[in-house]
Amino acid sequence: MYMDGSFALIQKFDQEMAEYTLKEEKRQLETLCLIASENYASPITVGMEGTVWANKNAEGYPGHRFAGGCELADKVENLAKERCKELFGCEYVNVQSMSSTLSNVAVLRALLKPGDTILSMELNQGGHLSHGARFHYSGKMYNIVQYGLNKETETIDMEQVANLAREHKPQLIICGTSSYPRMVDYKRFGEIAKEVGAYLMADIAHPVGLIAAGVIPSPVPYADVVTTSTHKTFRGPRGCGIIMCREELGKKIDQQIFPGLQGAPKMDMIASRAVLFKECMTEEYKEYQKQVKKNAEALADGLKDCGLRLVSGGTETHLVLVDIRELIPTGREAEDVLGSVGIVVNKNMIPYDPQSANLASGIRIGSPALTTRGFKEEDIREVARLLAKALKHHKEEAVLDEVRSAVKEKASHYPMFAEKWIPRS
Ligand SMILES: *Cc1c(COP(=O)(O)O)cnc(C)c1O
Repeated sequence: MYMDGSFALIQKFDQEMAEYTLKEEKRQLETLCLIASENYASPITVGMEGTVWANKNAEGYPGHRFAGGCELADKVENLAKERCKELFGCEYVNVQSMSSTLSNVAVLRALLKPGDTILSMELNQGGHLSHGARFHYSGKMYNIVQYGLNKETETIDMEQVANLAREHKPQLIICGTSSYPRMVDYKRFGEIAKEVGAYLMADIAHPVGLIAAGVIPSPVPYADVVTTSTHKTFRGPRGCGIIMCREELGKKIDQQIFPGLQGAPKMDMIASRAVLFKECMTEEYKEYQKQVKKNAEALADGLKDCGLRLVSGGTETHLVLVDIRELIPTGREAEDVLGSVGIVVNKNMIPYDPQSANLASGIRIGSPALTTRGFKEEDIREVARLLAKALKHHKEEAVLDEVRSAVKEKASHYPMFAEKWIPRS
């Protein structure tokens, strides 16, 4: 195909860009990525982006396009939708949104009037900015009421959710989180929404891969709408959101994506997601997701053994939220020190954090990326020990040097994408 060899052309034409790209590849290979929202995209799916589908304008929806030559584009988009429905058992799906944040905006616009009430999780306790943060569209357009965590258990306070729902009678309840290590009780959320006559939206951008593989329960039977990204645990390329919903909401949501918010969809990204959905149905993918969960547990245990406190005491998903104050004062310092030895993480607030978001008292880490590279439980435990060692000795250059060498050595044994996860058929 004509796009094969395009990097060779770039190397000739644009050395600066080629150099940055090769350096970034090296960085991704030589460091240990524990960022819970990152992954290495499956080479099968990423290969569809930048194919001839990148050329096609397919404004509109299958069967109702505003450009000619869309017969095959219609087939591709319909195939993506059918596969997604089969994978999650949902009634209706939109695959055109260009990010998961935009998906959420489209859903709010489809279901609510400005000024309606949304009950959602507080950002600082594990929610997402698109669930009603002050500075986001969602927070500016709607009346936001927020729930959080029980202070003792650091798990979602379902009593509080029920009480706030009864008191404020929201039109929409949002569940689904960005930095919450536990499973969300979608069934209970569904009952509460039904009781007060609210829609329920579940945003599964983070744990979606575990859900797709059946490793943890799905919200699809309980929620009116489910939104997700495709690049976190899902392991597809970055960008693009997916909206699943009950049949009768489908047309309204479609209209909010196009023409409400967007123009023509990115056909190469849709083609790529269609391949991703097929990949999710393979044994290799299911094995991968099981390993992600096992590795997150190993990471949690390893860190606890090193004396660190974990928010909620552990994990039931792919991520761990670590209170780092036993070893280093702030999340920002932790992120910097770990970055300097090649362990890539992000600072994160912990529940009832005394620090500002800029400093924070925790780090949020996860197993998806290292699991993609082929790490097993014992490897992850070793990473946990290195991480704790760097934090504990953050002022001792000699110890940091040791950790830096160990990280580089460890990373050098693993490819970006382990052979065993590539589906054989
Ligand atoms: C990451 C995340 C998103 C945003 O995804 P983008 O594709 O980056 O817009 C939305 N919701 C939740 C809960 C997330 O964790």
